[in-house]
Amino acid sequence: MTKSRIVINNIRLPITCDDNEAVLAAEKILKGSRISYVKSSLHIHKRSVDARKKSSITFVYSVTCESEAEPESIRACGDIKISAAEKLTFGMGCERMNGRPYIIGLGPAGIFCALILAAHGLSPVVLERGDSVDNRVRKIDSFYKTGILDTETNIQFGAGGAGTFSDGKLVTRIGDARIGYVLKKLVELGAPESICWNAKPHIGTDVLREVIKRAADEICSLGGEIRYNTKADSVGDGYVTVEGERIPCGLVVLAPGHSSRDTYMSLIDGGYAIEAKPFSIGVRAEHLQSELDRAMFGDEDLSNRLGHAEYSLSLRQGERGVYTFCMCPGGEVVAAASEEGGVVTNGMSRHARDGKNANAAVAVSVLPSDFSGDPVGAIRFQRELERAAFAAGGGGYCAPCQTIGGLNNGTAGGFGKRIVPTYMNSNVKGADFNKLLPSFASSLLKDGLRAFGRRIKGYDSLDVPLTGIETRTSAPLRILRDERFCALGHNLVYPCGEGAGYAGGITSAAVDGIRVAEAILSRFSRD
Ligand SMILES: Cc1cc2nc3c(=O)[nH]c(=O)nc-3n(C[C@H](O)[C@H](O)[C@H](O)COP(=O)(O)OP(=O)(O)OC[C@H]3O[C@@H](n4cnc5c(N)ncnc54)[C@H](O)[C@@H]3O)c2cc1C
Repeated sequence: MTKSRIVINNIRLPITCDDNEAVLAAEKILKGSRISYVKSSLHIHKRSVDARKKSSITFVYSVTCESEAEPESIRACGDIKISAAEKLTFGMGCERMNGRPYIIGLGPAGIFCALILAAHGLSPVVLERGDSVDNRVRKIDSFYKTGILDTETNIQFGAGGAGTFSDGKLVTRIGDARIGYVLKKLVELGAPESICWNAKPHIGTDVLREVIKRAADEICSLGGEIRYNTKADSVGDGYVTVEGERIPCGLVVLAPGHSSRDTYMSLIDGGYAIEAKPFSIGVRAEHLQSELDRAMFGDEDLSNRLGHAEYSLSLRQGERGVYTFCMCPGGEVVAAASEEGGVVTNGMSRHARDGKNANAAVAVSVLPSDFSGDPVGAIRFQRELERAAFAAGGGGYCAPCQTIGGLNNGTAGGFGKRIVPTYMNSNVKGADFNKLLPSFASSLLKDGLRAFGRRIKGYDSLDVPLTGIETRTSAPLRILRDERFCALGHNLVYPCGEGAGYAGGITSAAVDGIRVAEAILSRFSRD
């Protein structure tokens, strides 16, 4: 029986090699170390690209395998790491649940929580204010064509949550053993196997939509239920209200995402313990992907072997930082609005990442002192910027756009010759972000772009288009919860995921969904 997991790190190989050579190299190291291992279990754990020296770009592998020896009996050395074999186990509580668990939101957090509760026979009911995947695609297409926003089904709301129309990047900074479970489950639901070993895994919106559909089918096939176009107006211990009707339930998992402001207000009015949380604002910068590949790999054709170049850049100035966020290689800037009269940007790519442009948010941190420091103030701060962007775009969700050169000298226009903005098929209008953004943001943005231009050649070219406004980088508040994962002062309400302030991104939201499911399963009996 497998007792340990062995990981051999730092296996550096030329990019002309194939993965088998990494496994052979690991085996050679293991033989030299006399550690007993299960040969058939050897496989790639992670592969990353080290392109710091363009003249000798390498793959950096870590290879993993199992061992029947106890972890403490194995003498690890150098790049060999030993840990106990992990297996996610779910407890069994004895408290009786008076009714079915209700889950608010079918985003990654709600999905993984529902999958686990359903798999353990608890027949969860998921309420999703937006529509199913296929209807959502249709409604967003219609929004792009007509400029008429559906405030219940859009890029923020609907089956799969905010991440469905995204690059589906699964990178996360949380080091949590549940990540492996999330990645394996996504592969089981149709995601590419490479997400399990690629150091920068991504799915792409086209594949992710199918994954979401299969997840929804699995929840229902395991006895769960999903009610689309159903919004929870308020929640409490043992009930949810929908269109004024109070529905009794066993408990509520509240996974509403970071854009459900009416839900936030009903919680604030309902006296829930909520605090403001750091967030950022900014714009989306677009570059030609081929130029980024050339700048980062030295030869753009190398992207055929390495995948498109990805970057993550940051600059700190005192209490604030400016950083790139949610970079989408070969993707497009999307209209991520969810409220009438507000323009919001974000990014999306298909699995192939075959778009001409790359884009990323360049975001500046907002401090509590920039608004009234409370949750309502944070929401107001975001909303006012979104409305100003809507006005600057001239309506119809047309977005304000400006080149880096224009930002530096306060002039609008001049974009679209070399790099064509992709937002809503170039539905953009010249504007000046020096007027739209608070001065702390516009000045740090300029400093950041200059600094990033020193790290990636051409990053701050004067004709690079910036489209805005990016306000939903993370949740502006946290719903406080206790060690049982229940909302403070509540016994049967479980805040969960990004919207509750416990995650930032698809993977960490899914992990938080699992943690809440674990807490519920360890408290309640199955019958
Ligand atoms: C365009 C875009 C691109 C992104 N790209 C990436 C990426 O590449 N990688 C990454 O890691 N992260 C990305 N993110 C962020 C990521 O999508 C979120 O962090 C993640 O989806 C959060 O998961 P969640 O389940 O907590 O909430 P969400 O995914 O936001 O889901 C919440 C769900 O709850 C529903 N809901 C809200 N209120 C109610 C209510 N009252 N009643 C019923 N239903 C309700 C909403 O309709 C929504 O479907 C992106 C986000 C956007 C918008």
